[in-house]
Amino acid sequence: MRLLWVSFFFCFCSINLLAKTHKALYIIIDGVPADQIERLHTPAIFEIASKGAYARAYTGGEVGGYSQTPTISAIGYTSLLTSTWMNKHNVGGNSDLKPNYNYWTLFRIAKEQTKPCRTAIYSSWTDNRTVLLGEGKPETGYLKIDYVKDGYDLDTLHFPKKEKELHIFDIDEQVSKDAAEGIRKDAPDLSWVYLWYTDDAGHIAGNGAFFDEYVRKADAQVARIWEAVKYREANFDEEWMVVVTTDHGRTESGHGHGGQSLRERTTWISTNIPVNKYFNAGQLAIIDIAPSICRFMNFEVPQSVLWEQDGISFVGQTDIFNLQTLPYDDTVELTWEYCSKGTPVTIYAAVSNHFKEGGTDEWIKLATVRSGEGKYRVDLSSLPVSKFYKFVLVTMNNHLNRWVIR
Ligand SMILES: [Zn+2]
Repeated sequence: MRLLWVSFFFCFCSINLLAKTHKALYIIIDGVPADQIERLHTPAIFEIASKGAYARAYTGGEVGGYSQTPTISAIGYTSLLTSTWMNKHNVGGNSDLKPNYNYWTLFRIAKEQTKPCRTAIYSSWTDNRTVLLGEGKPETGYLKIDYVKDGYDLDTLHFPKKEKELHIFDIDEQVSKDAAEGIRKDAPDLSWVYLWYTDDAGHIAGNGAFFDEYVRKADAQVARIWEAVKYREANFDEEWMVVVTTDHGRTESGHGHGGQSLRERTTWISTNIPVNKYFNAGQLAIIDIAPSICRFMNFEVPQSVLWEQDGISFVGQTDIFNLQTLPYDDTVELTWEYCSKGTPVTIYAAVSNHFKEGGTDEWIKLATVRSGEGKYRVDLSSLPVSKFYKFVLVTMNNHLNRWVIR
């Protein structure tokens, strides 16, 4: 009888867990180096991490490799949104933006679900919605964002220019209040909050008390939003995934960014949900956030879009990571690391990149090996003659991809 009650209790609990509606929210606070956020140990960001995890991450693609990506703001946001580096998403700066919308953003993925997904953007920079997400454009399938709070950066009447660009801080205040209110009231399924002023504080003052002060103020804005999430979880049958991150680090002085120095490349991720081994394996990157949100939200991602994603989920199971390629005469050696040894890894190659132009690539299945083998040598003479190869390794729980350009 007691056993029956125990099993009844566990069934009840798991049904209850399943019933909770999943919601995801990510916040970018612009250009805050990892050493700075760790030194300040700001209360909201580290309270969020105390429920889940915090780790350093990187941006900027592979130094010297085909995916090297400048450590610049709009480029970083697009890497986060598409789970790809600049060689794919094509955003190369903060102006003259030409995103390649064939690499779907997280918001496009959300909108393509059969189950309706309500999306929101609360943002101090309007281009995030109009250009990077490409709202309303034919190339994005006329993407619609359900709740929008932005445009303040274009509203010089209500937010006139101030000394030290402090009107941007005022805009962040407004945006964080809008986000907190929107989350309490509308509880969108997927939200992006973007806060800008920390980057200006760094550019203006470099490392020092002024910059620190505005990082603490940004943390207070995060706290405002985090309180709204806690309110939702306490009063509704909802489970929220919160990610707080930054888009790039800074140069040694704290003034600049854009280059490939370690401090500029080093970012960080704070999240309130349990993470897998990969989160702390030293490879975590800005491109891993979208796949993690997709996993948490149980989004279906079309295979052609999924296989182009360069990131790995830090939520749930991950089998393999860190794919490397080494050409040698007419062969390429693929190597990888693994979390579990016996998982089947199926290896595919394509010699075209039609996906980039909206077309499809023919994927040739090469072999299935065990994850624990950690390597596979591809005989290129068995493939059509090409100067370009895409390799994808697929396991039950994740995939890896990499280009070889000869
Ligand atoms: Zn930035």
